Amino acid sequence: MLTQMQQNKWRLEAECVGMDSDLFFPPPYIGEEKKYEYERIAISICSACLVKDECLAYALSDPVMVTEGVWGGHTYKEIKSMRRRRKYVKKTDR
Ligand code: SF4
Repeated sequence: MLTQMQQNKWRLEAECVGMDSDLFFPPPYIGEEKKYEYERIAISICSACLVKDECLAYALSDPVMVTEGVWGGHTYKEIKSMRRRRKYVKKTDR
């Protein structure tokens, strides 16, 4: 079984390391327009990230820890939608 450290090794190669976390997790007080602007910037950073697939896989698999923000080049709203579709596909796969 992989340790937590081994499972999260991809984070060491993340393009967003050391960047302003507000870009990825905009504080609620900044307003919708600024939040959208921050999300666009975060998504553009993700597009150059070598571990975006691992990041998205993590976000999709952990609904307890991932409840907001931009992950793997997707907004939280998109991630929630993907989770719902995956559940639907799993149910209809049986
Ligand atoms: S995909 Fe985006 S949020 Fe995920 S590690 Fe890379 S830069 Fe960070």
